[in-house]
Amino acid sequence: APHAEVHPFQAEVAELLHLMVHSVYSETDVFLRELISNASDACDRLRYEAIARPELLADDPDLKIRITPDKAAGTLTVADNGVGMDRQELIDNLGTIARSGTRAFIARLAEAKDGGGLIGQFGVGFYAAFMVADRIEVTSRRAGADEAFVWRSTGSAGFEVEPAGAHAAALPRGTEIVLHLKEDARKYLEPWEIERVVHAYSDHIQFPIMLAVPAGKADGDEADEAKAGDEKAGEPRQINTASAVWQRSKSELKPEDYTQAYRSICGAFDEPAVTLHYRAEGRQSYAVLLFVPSSSMFDLYDPARKSHLKLYVRRVYITDDASLLPSWLRFVRGVVDSEDLPLNLSREMLQNNPQVAAMRKAITGKVLSELESVASKDADRFATVWETFGAVIKEGLYEEPDRREQILGLARFTSTRGERRTLAQYVAELRENQTEIYYLAGEDLDRLKANPKLEAAKARGIEVLLLTDPVDALWTSLRLDFQGKGFKSLSQGEVDFSLVPLAEEARAEAEKAAETAVDEASVIAAVKLALGDRVSDVKASQRLTDSAACLVAGGFGPDRELERLLAKQNR
Ligand code: ADP
Ligand code: MG
Repeated sequence: APHAEVHPFQAEVAELLHLMVHSVYSETDVFLRELISNASDACDRLRYEAIARPELLADDPDLKIRITPDKAAGTLTVADNGVGMDRQELIDNLGTIARSGTRAFIARLAEAKDGGGLIGQFGVGFYAAFMVADRIEVTSRRAGADEAFVWRSTGSAGFEVEPAGAHAAALPRGTEIVLHLKEDARKYLEPWEIERVVHAYSDHIQFPIMLAVPAGKADGDEADEAKAGDEKAGEPRQINTASAVWQRSKSELKPEDYTQAYRSICGAFDEPAVTLHYRAEGRQSYAVLLFVPSSSMFDLYDPARKSHLKLYVRRVYITDDASLLPSWLRFVRGVVDSEDLPLNLSREMLQNNPQVAAMRKAITGKVLSELESVASKDADRFATVWETFGAVIKEGLYEEPDRREQILGLARFTSTRGERRTLAQYVAELRENQTEIYYLAGEDLDRLKANPKLEAAKARGIEVLLLTDPVDALWTSLRLDFQGKGFKSLSQGEVDFSLVPLAEEARAEAEKAAETAVDEASVIAAVKLALGDRVSDVKASQRLTDSAACLVAGGFGPDRELERLLAKQNR
C-alpha cells in the first residue's frame, strides 16, 4: 500500500510558517478571507477550463463554497467543488514553491516594527490558516481525475502527501481544507463569527458561500445557548450576497458596498482612495469596477510591471493578465466584465486582440479623467494618491506620448516654493522674462534644498522643481514642454538667468558686491591653471550667489544628478 511521502517546506515558506504559528497578530480574520478567495479562484478556474471541456462540470454544475464548523471535533472545514489539485499541485502550491509575495513579505518583515500589520497588508494566502490552526489537512481531487490526495501538516517540520483513501469518496471534485483550531481560535466555530467575517471580507464572492452546521453538533460546549435557537442545525444556508457587484447599478450600491468590494477584490483592509464604477455601452459593452488603493503594494516595482485587472467575460473569470491598463497604471485594481468577447478566446490570443486594445484605451482615458476630477474636487485625497503612486504614473510620460499632457497636468511637485505644486501653477507664476521650467534632480530632498545650484534662482525669485524619483531621470531627458515652456536642469550646461530681474533683497546685495568686484577674467585664468586637465572648462556663472564654485556637466553631456538617479534605479 502507498504510504505518506514527507516533504520539507521551501525555506521561505518555512520562515513564513514559523511566523504564522507563533503569530501574536490579533487580526486573525484574514485566514478565512484567504481560504475563501482560494476556493473562489478554484471555481473560477474550473469554469474557465470547462469552456473547452464541458464534461468537467457536467455532473455537478453548481459551483459553491461550503464552510462547516464542528464544535465537537474542534474543526473548521472550508470546501469547494472547484478545479482541485492533483498530487504534484498539492506539493508545489502548498509548500514547495514560494510565491513572489512570500519573499517580499519576509524581506519587509525584517524592517517592520509591526510584523502583524504586514500579514494583513500582504495577504499571505493559504499559510495564514496556521495562525488559527495547529494542524491542517487538505484533501483534493483535480476535476476529471480518478484519484484524490491528502496533504497534512502541523506547520513545523514539513508536510506529507498520500492518496486520500476512504475519505476520497466524500470528495467527487475540488478541495476540502480541515483546520484543527487552536484553543484561542475556537471563536471561529461560532456561526455568527463566521458570518461576520464573510460579510466583512468576502460578501461579493461570486459563488454562494454556504454555512453548514452539522446536525446534532450545533450545541457542543454551549448546549443551552444553542437550544435557545441561535442557529438551527441541518440545512446549509447561504451567507453571502454572491452577486457580481460590478454588474449592479451604481444607484443601488452604498459606499459600504464599495468598501467591501474593494477589500475583497484587492485584499485590503482600508478604504479605497478612488473608486470608479461604470458601464460602457456602444461599440462594445462592458462593466468596470476599479479602485485606486490607499496604500502601496509589495509588487509595485516588480520587473514585470504588469497590470492586474481581472478580465471576466459574461461573469466568467478569464485572466488577470490581459493588460487592460498600461503598466504605468498598474496600481489600479479591479474588474472588467465584457459582454462581447468570445469566451473561448485563449489567454494568449487576448494579448493581441483589437477589442481588448480598444477597451484598454478607453479605460485608461476614464482612469485619467477620474484622477483629474479627484484632483480638482479633493486636493488632499489626490495628493495622497500622487504621493503613493505618482512615481509610477510618471512612467507614462515616456511610455505613452499621447497621454503626456494629461499626466503633466496631474503631476504634483515639491519645489522651492512648497509642496504639491502643479505645472500650471508654476507657469502661471513665472518670473518676468522667464521662459523655462527649472528643475534640480537628486536622491534626497534635504540635500537638494541645500544645493548651491539653487542660489542664483533664489536670488531672482525663480521657482525650481526638486525631483527625487528615479523615474524623473528618464522623463526629463525627453525634453518635453508644458504649455510651451521647456524643462531645464540647473545641473546641466548653461543656465542663463540674466534676463530675469533680481529679487529685492538680492538686488541690494548685488549692488554691494559690484563695488568689491574682482576681475572675472583673471580669476578664471588662475583657476584653470590650478585645475589643468581635470576640468574641461572654467566659466563665470550666475548660478551661485553664496558659494564660490560648483561642478556642472557640459551642455550636451549627461546630467550628473540624473546619472546618479539612473544608477540607483538600475541597481
Ligand atoms: P495565491 O492564492 O495568491 O496563489 P495561496 O497561498 O493562497 O496563494 O495559494 C497557493 C496556491 O495553492 C494557489 O495559487 C492555488 O494554486 C493553490 N490552492 C490553494 N487553495 C486552493 C483550492 N481551494 N483549490 C485549488 N487550488 C488551491
Ligand atoms: Mg490565495
